Amino acid sequence: MSWVFYVAIIGVTYFIIVQTSFEYIPGYYVSGWHRYFSIVAVAVGAILFVLTSFSDPGTVTAENVSQYVSAYPYDNIIFVEKECSTCKITRPARAKHCRICDKCVARFDHHCGWMNNCIGEKNTRYFVAFLVWHFLICVYGAVILGFILAGELKERKVIYILTAYYGIDNSFLGLFPHVAQWLLAVHNTQILLSVFLAILALLLGGFCAYHTHLCLTNTTTNESFKWQDYMMWMKKENEAKANAAALKASMDSSNSEAHKAPPSKWKAFFVRSRRPSVEPVVKNNIYDRGMIRNMCEVIVPLSERKSFSCRKSD
Ligand SMILES: [Zn+2]
Ligand SMILES: [Zn+2]
Repeated sequence: MSWVFYVAIIGVTYFIIVQTSFEYIPGYYVSGWHRYFSIVAVAVGAILFVLTSFSDPGTVTAENVSQYVSAYPYDNIIFVEKECSTCKITRPARAKHCRICDKCVARFDHHCGWMNNCIGEKNTRYFVAFLVWHFLICVYGAVILGFILAGELKERKVIYILTAYYGIDNSFLGLFPHVAQWLLAVHNTQILLSVFLAILALLLGGFCAYHTHLCLTNTTTNESFKWQDYMMWMKKENEAKANAAALKASMDSSNSEAHKAPPSKWKAFFVRSRRPSVEPVVKNNIYDRGMIRNMCEVIVPLSERKSFSCRKSD
């Protein structure tokens, strides 16, 4: 059913654009080929949706589990060797059992409700391409609508008429409210559409940036949460250790200083307020192999490489 949402949002938006704005193409600033290019852009988006939604995310089965275990070694920090209690097979590092799909998915990123599919080892590439492509479509649509409006202003000599008829001075501040009023009255559909596309582009842009960052650092969404928990836990543990060490040190020093003259109030204040030195927590992601190789791993998953079928678990 996930495709119903997708078709509804894209289909309705594109239909409204065709119905209300194609009459301005070609226009003063927009050439005619955008009519055809927009169809291609939407079709590519639909193909990426189908690929993400209906492709295998990288299901771990009894047949391929040993290869997966060998391809993704355990880091023994956020992934330790364990059996999946549902699938009754070893769960490779980076994999997770999805309760919705009821299977273990290699290099599990997240279960996408919109796509009604898991995003994993084999389809992260389609998912990221989907995000980037739809971000670009939204920017493209908003820009073309902007050029349509600019062309209308130019062709209908709106600026000229406003300045001449109403005697407004030809400055941005003087003209802006009148031009905006004219556009809202005559082209409210195009304004609404471009605002809608701009908001979508902002949202998608945020997702794109986040997932590109994850790809470049060879981290999954699932792992980024695991790392967050781990870092917080380690930080607390290190702080506790440092506090214990500081307490012990202060007790030792007060024992040895008990026989000497009492320290001045100032000195006591500084000794007490000295922060115990806490060991910094480092994130050691063993799957990070440099930006370029990380990107290659998303584009050509390990399980689709020749080396994968030769692997055997030891
Ligand atoms: Zn499982
Ligand atoms: Zn799933």
